[in-house]
Amino acid sequence: MSVLIKGARPYGEDVADILLQDGRIAAIGDSLSVPGADVVDAAGLVALPGLVDLHTHLREPGREDAETVETGSRAAALGGYTAVHAMANTDPVADTAGVVEQVWRLGQEAGLVDVVPVGAVTVGLAGERLAELGAMADSAARVRVFSDDGHCVADPALMRRALEYVKALDGVVAQHAEEPRLTVGAQMHEGDRSARLGLTGWPAAAEEAIIARDVLLAGHVGARLHVCHVSTAGSVEILRWAKSRGVQVTAEVTPHHLLLTDECAEGYDPLFKVNPPLRTDADVEALRAGLAEGVIDAVATDHAPHAVEDKETEWASARPGMLGLEQALSVVVATMVDTGLLDWRGVADRMSARPAAIGRLDGHGRALAPGEPANLLLLDPGTRAVVDPAALASRSRNSPYAGRELPGRVVATFLRGVPTVLDGKATR
Ligand SMILES: [Zn+2]
Repeated sequence: MSVLIKGARPYGEDVADILLQDGRIAAIGDSLSVPGADVVDAAGLVALPGLVDLHTHLREPGREDAETVETGSRAAALGGYTAVHAMANTDPVADTAGVVEQVWRLGQEAGLVDVVPVGAVTVGLAGERLAELGAMADSAARVRVFSDDGHCVADPALMRRALEYVKALDGVVAQHAEEPRLTVGAQMHEGDRSARLGLTGWPAAAEEAIIARDVLLAGHVGARLHVCHVSTAGSVEILRWAKSRGVQVTAEVTPHHLLLTDECAEGYDPLFKVNPPLRTDADVEALRAGLAEGVIDAVATDHAPHAVEDKETEWASARPGMLGLEQALSVVVATMVDTGLLDWRGVADRMSARPAAIGRLDGHGRALAPGEPANLLLLDPGTRAVVDPAALASRSRNSPYAGRELPGRVVATFLRGVPTVLDGKATR
């Protein structure tokens, strides 16, 4: 199968044709022509490497009413992704080789993105004893990222042992940094606004304390640490310090933490309840700057579908979490590209190359160049559209961007040369 993409702008730079053949980029150049190839008109479109998400909740097995591997894969492809890491907090928890292989196989069957299972750090996410990390790493799913996300690995001795294990596996612990003793009953960012709204606060220090502890542990052990969904200016400072000391730490920020603030809580609309919570303007500014600087390595969605009954309820009882896959690139365009903080090569680095490297993924995060796997997307950066939750491919509707106008439309996505999205629509 051959696909000839005509007139795209790789990385937003000079116009070129891109030929995809046998799953790889066969050529990039002027006026390519190949008899029999499917031609895609890409005039005015930016070509980028396929995006890689380090942090997706696909909810299968266990909560197929909220999302399945297939519906989440379709949402991902529509967002320009070619690989997503599926978090372990399913039911049953992905804490054995059997469960991670099941998720991996479901991803293969859906065939829209490469679904890469994350393995739990502790049995049942209970934070008491380590799961069988080696068995998950050796399984068909080749797990390299381990996380109890949703929960913090709060016990420092257990965290140390997890770091020692993943070091031997060339893996990484992705920590949900939240000191649980400081966030009992927490509902939103702790500050003036939480006091005024009468909602229990989630202090920035609860995140920063765990990150500070864990970068010291990672440095001591000589292991890789990844920090999930960094949300505060103080966290960025600690990460900068740790990196300057040579600690092998990486970090991600979510689209929603790049765009939204705790002001969203004013209407008590549970769509804006998320963990960690939306923070202040100053935090958003620091997160954008940290991502531009590279102190924060990656954008990760923390795509968290929830069934209607878990979200359309009062704030205090609503589940935390937001959809992210289908709008992530648009939010990055709005917050990082249109503001001049990142160019398209920067976007490719933070949304594809670095997350693929952190997850040790083969075949993703590579440059747009001849010989490389044909995982790429075409984006119309000029189109602006209002987000309609009813039009999303996700099985859930809890988008915090509902009714908001965002720039950038993913027109096509290719997974190993095969279109998963064409004309903005999933091909399967
Ligand atoms: Zn989390």
